[in-house]
Formats: sequence, structure tokens, C-alpha cells
Amino acid sequence: MTSSPAYRPATLLVQGGIERSPFGETAEALYLTSGFVYDDAEQAEATFKGTIDHYQYTRFSNPTVAMLERRLALIEGAEACCATATGMAAVNAALFAQLKAGDRVVASRALFGACHWIVSTLLPRFGIESEFVDGSDLVQWRAALAKPAALVLLETPSNPMLEIVDLRAVAALAHAAGAIVVVDNVFATPLLQKPLQLGADVVVYSCTKHIDGQGRVLGGAVLGTKKWIEETLQPFVRNTGPALSPFNAWLLLKGLETLGLRVEAGCRTAAALADFLALQPGVARVWYPTRADHPQCALAMAQASAGGTVVTFEVAGGKDAAFQVLGALRLVRVSNNLGDSKSLATHPATTTHMKIGVGERARLGITDGVVRLSVGLEDVEDLKDDLGQALATLTGG
Ligand SMILES: *Cc1c(COP(=O)(O)O)cnc(C)c1O
Repeated sequence: MTSSPAYRPATLLVQGGIERSPFGETAEALYLTSGFVYDDAEQAEATFKGTIDHYQYTRFSNPTVAMLERRLALIEGAEACCATATGMAAVNAALFAQLKAGDRVVASRALFGACHWIVSTLLPRFGIESEFVDGSDLVQWRAALAKPAALVLLETPSNPMLEIVDLRAVAALAHAAGAIVVVDNVFATPLLQKPLQLGADVVVYSCTKHIDGQGRVLGGAVLGTKKWIEETLQPFVRNTGPALSPFNAWLLLKGLETLGLRVEAGCRTAAALADFLALQPGVARVWYPTRADHPQCALAMAQASAGGTVVTFEVAGGKDAAFQVLGALRLVRVSNNLGDSKSLATHPATTTHMKIGVGERARLGITDGVVRLSVGLEDVEDLKDDLGQALATLTGG
């Protein structure tokens, strides 16, 4: 009964969705196969008709990928899940499986760079109107959703400024406008925030981030009702081919086993580093959702059980000072990835958020001094020492 939804998250992370072969292997089996054989032509025909349950082709489904999908659905509390090759394949599928020419999409401005490009540039090419709002401003959501819409896309907490969108309020406005609500829940992970319980219809993940969490593979997932996944999403995914490799699914299953321990440790260290950074002379400002000085601290704490593993801070002195600090770090490495067991720092204005341009960065508050720190599993004191010595180079200390 390893797939009973009555189990608590820590149990589901390790045991959820396992289907053992007749050999009774302990670990999840890796079915590294592109296809499947049938006993006879009659069985092949029945498989294609859908009158029997038989694997057909790994672009459609695969036993290892199916174990990952079941485990993710159980953890999320979703009826169904579809795994994809990358997080962007998941976002793209969730949008294009649903939308058609003439539709209207409303999205929060503070989206992951590639998601922002899909909404601003790709959707309009297909005759889909798109409109951005400031995610934390319910007045703007209300105005944008006063007209009918097909879909709302948002990310909370957002990358990199950790802005919070009020999921319950936006979901209510979206549903009144006729829209389905798609939430990119990467920063919160499946453990800290449950968008489906707060009114969202669909949740997407980049499994590349905390779910793998060890810098090895790309992956993505879309979760929703059984009806929406099977009738709307699956035809798109099966026919267009963003399938997850069984090998990557197997690594992600192993990543999930330690997700709870890693996210808990990362959140604890991130909260401590946010408090530490706020006291450093070279730091102008710190953003962390559960700190009292975060403008939406109360909402952040009502919506999620912890602040997450990312801390954003502004170095006083702009780009030169930020680059000096990044250059002086020894333990924390400069990288645009996040959710890894290794602590990584990036300068969003010149990397992840370079392409959105000066004006859009200014609207989002991404100044040239902003540094995003993805907190890993190192000892918190070593991370404080490293950040402290790097910041001290600014004041000649
Ligand atoms: C990384 C990321 C994505 C894209 O995921 P990939 O696995 O890199 O394709 C989408 N949204 C957010 C919030 C992300 O952090």
C-alpha cells in the first residue's frame, strides 16, 4: 500500500508510487527502454484501443517515469501528474495544451526569464493576447481580470525578488473571469506551499531545481485533475514529445527521497543567512519571505510553511560592488542555477534577467546591486564566514 494518500509527506517522498517488478528489488527499477513488446498482435491491438493497460512507447509512458508521476502527485495532493523533460517543457505544455488563437492570458510580471519570453513573445505570435500585472498588486489583477481570460500564469515566491502573490485572491478573480490558474511553484517546492489547496488548477515544477537538488539532471512536471491531465495535457505531450528520460526520472525519484531533509536544512540556513546579511555594512537590503521587513511577510507565512532556500540581497554600490563581492566568494560559487546542495550566487541583472531589459528590471526592483543566493547544504558558519569576508572587501576590512 505504498501509494496510499493517507501517508504523511516524509513517507510518500521515500515510498510513494513504487511498483516493484517480480524480482522484488528494493530500489525503484530503471526501465531504460524506448518500447515494449506484446504477446501477440491481439494484445497490441487492445493496447492501442485502450481496452487493456499495457505500456506502449516511452514517449507516451514508461514504468520508471510513472513511478515518479505517482510519487509527485501524492506529495502534491493532486489527482494526476505528467512528467516532462525540463521545467520549461512543463510550462510550455501547460500553456499550449490549453490555449488557442483569440484567447487572453494574464500573468505576473515577475516570472522566470523563459516563462516571461513565452508570455510576452511566443503567445502573441499565435494570436494569443497577453498582459502582465505586478503580482503583488491585487488592484492590477482585478483590473486585468475584469475582462474574460483563458489562463493565469504566476510564480510565488518570485525569482529573484521573492515577491508573493496572494494565491486565494488571484484564483478567485481568475475563476470569475473564466481562467484556469497555473502556478509555477519552483521556489516553494512541493513541500512548503500547496497551490491546489489555495485555489490553483494546475501546478508546474522544474524538477531540475530542488527535486533533483544535486545538479545532475533536467526535468519537469505538470500536476492537476485527472480529467485535465488526461484530456487536455496528455494529447499535447504525447504528440509533441517533451518526454522525460526514464534515467532522469529514476534520478529524480532518488532525489525526492531526500527532498524533505534538504529543503528543511536549506530553509533553516537561508533564514539564518538572511538575518546575518541584514547586519553586514556592505548590504543595503535583504529580501527573505519570512523576515519581518519583507513587505508581504504575513501573506508569505500564511501561504507557505517556510521561507524557502533563496535569499536575495542588494550590495551597496551597484554592479561594481556586487561583482566585487561575487568575485571574492570562495565557498559559494557563481552560477545561475538554484535549489542545489551547493550554495550558488548570481547577479540577476547581467545573467538570468539580462534579456528582459532595463525598464522591466526597474519595474521588478532588480537593481544592479542585487545578488540572488541559492542556499545549499554547507555548514551555516562556513557560509557566514565566506559571505562576511567577501563583503568585507568592500570596506577594506
Ligand atoms: C528553472 C526554472 C524554470 C525552468 O526549468 P528548466 O528545468 O530549467 O527548464 C521555470 N520556472 C522557474 C521558477 C525556474 O526556477
